[in-house]
Amino acid sequence: MRILLDDGTTEEYEDEPFSEGGQGRLYLSRDKKHVIKLYHQENRARLPALQKIMGELNVTRHDPSAASLFAWINGIVRRPSLGVRMLNVNRELPHRDLTWWFSPKTVKRLPEDMRGNWFDRTCVASEMARIAWKLHGVGLCHSDFSGANFLVNVARHRAVLIDLDNLVVPDVLPPAMLGTAEYMAPEIVAAYMRGQTDIRPSIQTDLHSLAVLIYQLLLMRHPLRGPKVHDPENAERDDQLAFGERALYTEDPNDRSNRPKDPFRGAWLLGEEVESLMRRAFTDGLRDPSRRPVAAMWRDALSRMADQHVPCVNPECEGKAFILLRDHPAVCPWCNTRITYPKQIPVLRLYSSVGQAGHFQQDKGRIVGWQSRTLHRWHAQSNFSEHEATRPEDRAPLVELQYDKRHGWVLYNIALDDLRVADVSLVRKVPLGTALPLREGQKWLLGAGNAARLALVTMQSV
Ligand SMILES: [Zn+2]
Repeated sequence: MRILLDDGTTEEYEDEPFSEGGQGRLYLSRDKKHVIKLYHQENRARLPALQKIMGELNVTRHDPSAASLFAWINGIVRRPSLGVRMLNVNRELPHRDLTWWFSPKTVKRLPEDMRGNWFDRTCVASEMARIAWKLHGVGLCHSDFSGANFLVNVARHRAVLIDLDNLVVPDVLPPAMLGTAEYMAPEIVAAYMRGQTDIRPSIQTDLHSLAVLIYQLLLMRHPLRGPKVHDPENAERDDQLAFGERALYTEDPNDRSNRPKDPFRGAWLLGEEVESLMRRAFTDGLRDPSRRPVAAMWRDALSRMADQHVPCVNPECEGKAFILLRDHPAVCPWCNTRITYPKQIPVLRLYSSVGQAGHFQQDKGRIVGWQSRTLHRWHAQSNFSEHEATRPEDRAPLVELQYDKRHGWVLYNIALDDLRVADVSLVRKVPLGTALPLREGQKWLLGAGNAARLALVTMQSV
């Protein structure tokens, strides 16, 4: 099939669609570079909105680092009917929609080179938050964050957001559709049940959907779907109440009526910071949209969570990694295998300077020591965060944790100038290319200058 684009060029596409959705059919170009969506309804009123999304609202145009995160509209199809064109996300790397990772059954059916482990899931969750942050940062909301609209390759830590032709610009582009029930914010589901049609998706409703998707990716369970029944006679109404007016977090600390039977895997497995964001999103944030954690909070918390994984020693384990929680034994929650060696694992708590030399306050960073775990510029400096590290030199490892039987745990200085360690009374410099043992109570100064962080070592027995 030959198509005509807005700019007058023509392209060749397959005659048969490879997929069909509520809004239109999807076709692949003969050269496999692009995908087009031809709308079921020839609604020319959409045209100005589409042109706006492709032009002035185009995040990828102003920010090249965002290009790989979105399948942005890059052409408007005029013939044979109205449609949009975007890059074919699967051309270089295969992706599947995120829902494949939501249940153990479907995960087993994924090709092994896409599946990834639980550490990889944490990285993808952080990528999803980064995508939301890029969009929300310029005032746009997607309006339909769902498992079907994130295409991911978990093993390769890649996530791409699709269906960008329905973007909502508050007060400019009216929303075209409501979204997917289980991902919709409760205020929208509730309004829908009341027959109200004027309630609009917004950045805040996106933030609810984002929190649900991250929870599902990491825990393979919907955070609001528990044993509580709201309407025993009507399944549809029961769902609408569970996701709307009577939405109740399965892990609500004050109301345990929707809590699954023990033992269940809850958000405490995600470490303190992410657990508290989940609690905020699904308790206060359910009723008050302004209380929902914003995308940047998720992005940063998930990237710090990635620093706290340890690998599971059981080669058959499905998760292959888990968070070493504070004051908890090192037992893998996915297969119940216990780490027994080494007997102690170093944990580095990060502190940043508060102006005066030698005065520090605790940060959110917590790094769990593991063989070959490295620290980077965003760990060493409080004025630099991981998402700013786009150049290879900003991502280079600065120090490395190492373990061997003879020396136990050491910190090896790869490339950190002015690395110093303070034991009880002695401050020693650790030159490049050398290592010193890690011990309980040590303070490591990660460089000179006001932005340099301090790392306090505790040894956690397993
Ligand atoms: Zn395990």
